[in-house]
Amino acid sequence: MVQGFAAILLFDFGWFREQFCIIMCPYGRFQSVLMDKHSKAVMYDEARGEPRGKAKKGSEKQYGDCVNCYKCVAVCPTGVDIRNGLQLECIACTACIDACDDIMTKLGRPKGLIRYSSEAAMQGQPSKSATPRVLAYSAAIALLCIAFTFFVSRKDSLNIQVLRAIEAPYKMVTNAQGHNVIVNHFRIHVNNHKGRDVKLISLKTSTAVEIVAPTLPMTVGSNQDAWVHFFVKAKQGSPEVFDGPKTVTAEFLEDSDKTNYRKLPYSLLGPTK
Ligand code: SF4
Ligand code: SF4
Repeated sequence: MVQGFAAILLFDFGWFREQFCIIMCPYGRFQSVLMDKHSKAVMYDEARGEPRGKAKKGSEKQYGDCVNCYKCVAVCPTGVDIRNGLQLECIACTACIDACDDIMTKLGRPKGLIRYSSEAAMQGQPSKSATPRVLAYSAAIALLCIAFTFFVSRKDSLNIQVLRAIEAPYKMVTNAQGHNVIVNHFRIHVNNHKGRDVKLISLKTSTAVEIVAPTLPMTVGSNQDAWVHFFVKAKQGSPEVFDGPKTVTAEFLEDSDKTNYRKLPYSLLGPTK
């Protein structure tokens, strides 16, 4: 486990590096789906910056504020040139904003040639926060949250499950009356997330078989799990008890005076004649 994590970290930080952000990180994918022209992101002010370049002595050509120093590209961890517009690889780290602000400060020009803004704001249009797309996605996310809460609240906080014991499927023994008896060994896994102790009292099933649960009653503490072993004894020559799945009823106390019952499926194995 530890070696596995160490190998993954070595691979990621030693070789894969920014490829993780570009190829695997879901942030850019989510961002591209949710974006519209009113969404805020790291943006280059094209109207102010273009045409980019440095004014030369004696040249009549007028340039924008971008001096084409490439500092914003050099600091970008994913190799984006934000002057070409917002790209999927941008992880909004804002390193290009800081780099460009430093250049603007040195040149005595206003900061914010690259800044957090929206496409609409860059074009001088009023920004809207509640666009139809935002409302639709908000409604979809709200529905997902409600569904998630609903299913989590319905999750059974006391999980009781019958499993067959890890050994021979059944054993043949002879009882005191000289009858052949088939014994099936089961385990009940009790996983208690109820926030209080649960006491498993007894197991009951059809009268055609006998259940022996030597460790009952058993108390399972809050946030603990436990295994309860039980044996089902059936006389050989009673095919009806081997016919299809059966249920065993577990009786347990959740509070000191409240008895609950849970029907648990199991199947018997053994010769029917
Ligand atoms: S850091 Fe600013 S001035 Fe330099 S290239 Fe990028 S946008 Fe232009
Ligand atoms: S915000 Fe970060 S990832 Fe995006 S363009 Fe700027 S430096 Fe690159």
